[in-house]
Amino acid sequence: MTDSSVAQTEVLLLMGPPGAGKGTQALKLAQARGLHKLSTGDMLRDHVKRGTDLGRQAKSIMDAGELVPDELIIAMVRAELEKQTPVRVLLDGFPRTAAQAEALDRLLSELQVSITAVVLLEVQEDELVKRLLSRAEREGRSDDNETTIRNRMQVYQRQTKPLIDYYQRSGQLRHVNGLGPVDEVLVRIAEVLP
Ligand code: AMP
Repeated sequence: MTDSSVAQTEVLLLMGPPGAGKGTQALKLAQARGLHKLSTGDMLRDHVKRGTDLGRQAKSIMDAGELVPDELIIAMVRAELEKQTPVRVLLDGFPRTAAQAEALDRLLSELQVSITAVVLLEVQEDELVKRLLSRAEREGRSDDNETTIRNRMQVYQRQTKPLIDYYQRSGQLRHVNGLGPVDEVLVRIAEVLP
């Protein structure tokens, strides 16, 4: 590709179950590649903190470990993506449903950019629960208690895991072992990216 404006765009998706280390890796990866990190979980927590309409609608859903309605999430992501020229983003925690993935495809096609790669962080379930419970002690996130954690795992299995097939079929999926020291995982991610 010779058009530099096209070559500059980059859209990375970071997927994985709750506790896989998406947030930690997203920070480092975005910094390393000069990408704007868009974490829907962080954006929602910010709305809750500021007491916006969206925050008020999202709070109880998040505390129950359920997913915030697609329309609200898609509108929030759309507003952020439309601000970017060129689009250079790392999406963390989005998409989480088939409807979100389809909306993202449409939005990116409107913006004339495509997904660079989808990174799937893989970690076994017993390790995930251990990590989330220890994060609960450290950060005190209101959705990091055992009941909610269990529900978030189920929600992931039911609603988000099918997206793995979607991106596998499109040839964009890159599997990465998420176990081990943070910087080793980061190196593994870098190795699978163009
Ligand atoms: P996270 O920080 O990514 O684990 O997200 C925390 C919570 O925010 C989730 O359990 C959901 O309630 C909500 N959330 C974050 N991203 C999304 C999304 N893409 N779609 C629906 N709900 C989301």
